[in-house]
Amino acid sequence: MLLYEADADGWCRDVVRYDSPHADARPPGAAVTLLVIHNISLPAGRFGAPHVSDLFTGRVDYNVYPSFADLRGLKVSSHFLIRRDGRVIQYVAAGARAWHAGKSEFHGRAECNDFSIGVELEGTDFVPFEAAQYTALAGLTVALSRRYPLSDVQGHEHIAPGRKTDPGPLFDWQKYQQTWSVLLNEKAMDESGLVGAYRPLRFPSDI
Ligand SMILES: [Zn+2]
Repeated sequence: MLLYEADADGWCRDVVRYDSPHADARPPGAAVTLLVIHNISLPAGRFGAPHVSDLFTGRVDYNVYPSFADLRGLKVSSHFLIRRDGRVIQYVAAGARAWHAGKSEFHGRAECNDFSIGVELEGTDFVPFEAAQYTALAGLTVALSRRYPLSDVQGHEHIAPGRKTDPGPLFDWQKYQQTWSVLLNEKAMDESGLVGAYRPLRFPSDI
């Protein structure tokens, strides 16, 4: 059985599910071709707290930290959050449009939320990510590629340059790509013929 296998609506196995209201339908006919990698922590730099899930599900208590006043009125959610220990939380079905990218553009196409899946890594631009996060991200990438015609992976910083910096300089794209590649080859050997079901993925380092 494929880890994180997505059902027809885009809900994955092996994840914790918290439904977010910060989502809607994708435009009719919009193929899901892009995976967008982010980082987030609330408060910034503190890991393990429940506040990211609170933000994505519209339940932030703005009085907990003074910095949370800036979050007031913010309606955002990614599809997934990968915690420091590799646990995956899903907020929005991958078949639906989560509000994660904001003003963005990829290959001349604006509104990346229309055609992308957003994955947040619990982290910051200033601390290396955990091995367990790369493993989970690679597994999720393989599973989502089976369900959707993903062709490209980008960082939020690549589709919103000058406005966003995540996942940042300490996100190791090469490690992600290698972990993904090894996993893909393992799956191909496990389930002969399966590799044909996956399309090649372009990473930022390929462009
Ligand atoms: Zn981001």
